[in-house]
Amino acid sequence: MRSSNQSCDRVECDFSLDGKFCEMLDRAGIPKDAKWRTLILYMRGIKEYSYLSEMQKGQVQNLLMEVLQGGDFSDDKFRDVLQREKEIMVAPYEHRLKAALHETAALADEFKQMVQRRKGDVKHLEDRSVQAVTSGQDPEEIVSMLQATFREVLHMMEQDAAALDQLSKTDPLTGLNNRRAFDEVLSHGVREWKLHNTPLSLMMLDIDHFKNFNDEFGHRIGDQALTTVATIIRKSIAQFGDEGVDITPCRYGGEEFGIILHGGAALIADELALSVRRRMENYNFIIRDGNGDIIRKGIHITISSGIAEAMEEWRSAMTENLIDAADKALYYAKRMGRNRVAKFVPGNPDSFTIIDGS
Ligand code: GH3
Ligand code: MG
Ligand code: MG
Repeated sequence: MRSSNQSCDRVECDFSLDGKFCEMLDRAGIPKDAKWRTLILYMRGIKEYSYLSEMQKGQVQNLLMEVLQGGDFSDDKFRDVLQREKEIMVAPYEHRLKAALHETAALADEFKQMVQRRKGDVKHLEDRSVQAVTSGQDPEEIVSMLQATFREVLHMMEQDAAALDQLSKTDPLTGLNNRRAFDEVLSHGVREWKLHNTPLSLMMLDIDHFKNFNDEFGHRIGDQALTTVATIIRKSIAQFGDEGVDITPCRYGGEEFGIILHGGAALIADELALSVRRRMENYNFIIRDGNGDIIRKGIHITISSGIAEAMEEWRSAMTENLIDAADKALYYAKRMGRNRVAKFVPGNPDSFTIIDGS
């Protein structure tokens, strides 16, 4: 056994830093206790976990710093840290599950209404068909009337399928494209980039300190804020071009949005991000009660954004690399004080620049 392990008693401590890790924990005053040391080691190593977002990694690192600086290694604190770590891990899934349930319910409801609406239409067509057959008209005319009726039914079915398809790609709260649409549009963009070198940029946006906002004003008002953010994103997009083919704003999940910029639009990603940032910063959020009376006004919500552009060296795993780079840039914008736009700098892995428009 290495000598540096002996001071750790019951814990194997030589995980890295040439066996100095154990000594480092000793110096930080962490008890020689397997459960604390294992937890700290695990939290320290979390930055290597690729399935976690930069945000989650940062939150775990902050929690780790709090533990190390706080010096409280009681059992109560241990339970508290475990609980908070669990919340950080499951929060995105919880929100995604809630959103998926919400979406499914909205789809089922729309489908029910559609069937209800179509019942009358189909009955009308049925009456028309019966009338045609029993009219005693020339068989050729009867056949063409029946054909016209079937064409109408077919047309209605196509309309319904298109409406349901549209609905299945729409976030019911904000009306923006949902995560499913995001995945589809981005993979289309990546295909176009690979085939024709069509420029492609991705912008990830995240509301700053939204947990505090929810804690202060409640989830319902939080939902209103999300809708407002979506409206502001749309207004900024309208300033630059048409939403749809070239600029696709999406609700990526929770309080995070993704904007895919394709073709010429990919070149104005910085300006668009700055526009959203400024509009958001200047927007006076007003909170009203159930009667529409103002309860609070002058509330400001800010947004941080990260931008990345498709790069040749990412070709083999473009989608993952692009999302990862935009996500890292977003997290950099958070670290640099929030209410910022950051961009991934090509050719320099893990390097970013703040764009301030000046
Ligand atoms: P940061 O500036 O680092 O992004 O801080 P934050 O508080 O915004 O980030 P954090 O990830 O800690 O919290 C995200 C919050 O977003 C917590 C959650 O309650 C809220 N949220 C996510 N989805 C929804 C939603 O659909 N409706 C409402 N009202 N809140 C949501
Ligand atoms: Mg946030
Ligand atoms: Mg977030």
